[in-house]
Amino acid sequence: MPTDQRPETFHMRVVRQTDPKWLANARSGDKTAQMCVLAVARWMKEMVAGRSSCICCDAVFSGGDVPEAFLILISSNQDSEELNVRSAAVCSKCSTHEDQWLMAEGARRTGLARSAEQMQ
Ligand SMILES: [Zn+2]
Repeated sequence: MPTDQRPETFHMRVVRQTDPKWLANARSGDKTAQMCVLAVARWMKEMVAGRSSCICCDAVFSGGDVPEAFLILISSNQDSEELNVRSAAVCSKCSTHEDQWLMAEGARRTGLARSAEQMQ
């Protein structure tokens, strides 16, 4: 088991394509919304280069697909002001679940991914 206990705090947000508030908030200067919009833009850019799958199941997105929703993971380390923002796409099937479910499922699967990273 990982013993690394850095003082990191996580915030999760669910950004849906059908919800225009994110872009509107980002334009009006909301920092969290800006980070979410940036993270989504970065995901779309990276996706062109490789395969991506849904954070909540194993559905794979192919080039040109625009995910229905994104799970944004914002982590902040107490040692610095730096915010680390990661985004994960949610397929159309999983996006029918409510935000709470997506966040719980994403946290569970992200936790597994983090353990795997630390073993390398
Ligand atoms: Zn899915």
